Amino acid sequence: MTDTPRLALKVDVDTYVGMRDGVPRLQAALDARGIPASVYVSCGPDHSGRALRRIFKPGFLAKMLRTNAPGMYGWRTLLYGTLLPGPQIARSFPEHLRALAAAGHEIGVHGYDHVYWHDRLNGLGADATTAELRRGLAVFAELTGTPATAFAAPGWQCTANSLAAIDAAGLRYHSCTRGRAPYRPEAGGRVFATPEIPTTWPTLDEVYGRVGTDAASLNAFYRAQIQPGLNVHTIHAEVEGMSLRPLFEALLDALRGQVEFVRLIDVAGGLDRAALPRCPVGNGTVEGRAGTVAVQGAPA
Ligand SMILES: [Zn+2]
Repeated sequence: MTDTPRLALKVDVDTYVGMRDGVPRLQAALDARGIPASVYVSCGPDHSGRALRRIFKPGFLAKMLRTNAPGMYGWRTLLYGTLLPGPQIARSFPEHLRALAAAGHEIGVHGYDHVYWHDRLNGLGADATTAELRRGLAVFAELTGTPATAFAAPGWQCTANSLAAIDAAGLRYHSCTRGRAPYRPEAGGRVFATPEIPTTWPTLDEVYGRVGTDAASLNAFYRAQIQPGLNVHTIHAEVEGMSLRPLFEALLDALRGQVEFVRLIDVAGGLDRAALPRCPVGNGTVEGRAGTVAVQGAPA
């Protein structure tokens, strides 16, 4: 069945609570249905409280209220890195990483300090960017006993420096942008070697409340997103793994038979780097999300 659309579920773990509670619940929902996923974990401290400075940016407060972020993350999480010290995310639950791998899920790195990467990457020089990337990769290698093969950028933040650091680290692929199909990124006058496999669907926190809050409307919306070939849907451990888990489980059931579920590492294994289109990476906005994200431009 070569013409069945493929769907990769890319799970991002941003916080301590998401790692502690969201990851095992998501895994249970996936394993019960025999669905494989690719899970990217923030490998340093949870500094979510520092993200509160974004509250002063247009759109962020509205999103916090629309998605009930305090209810979703818990108030403690909103103080980590400010009034409370930030607990370690991956290091606190190595058994969750082992359980994912044992069940056949892919595991990768979602940065070191999620908030730092999200808020500061655009101003970081080459050395600071490389150091931050390597901090995350080092913790991952220490916890799992194997070098990381994949990196997913926190907040879809991506620069020429981060792409160069990823190339130098020798990863198999990355998933750092929003776009249409796999490509080799171009930025700062360079074409990078490591394939980028972008997120192609809007995330649940971007559409929740906008296209509806019930499973019927959201499932219809996502089924309409299915394109021929590869689709990539980013899931958040803190959202689909926690307060919106019933919607996630309903979506998995609604997509059954419509798509073939794949892991991103398997997609990467089938890519011919030389044949991939080269596309510029720019900054753009997506409906329902505050700030800018890295987006795939038109092929050169
Ligand atoms: Zn994230």
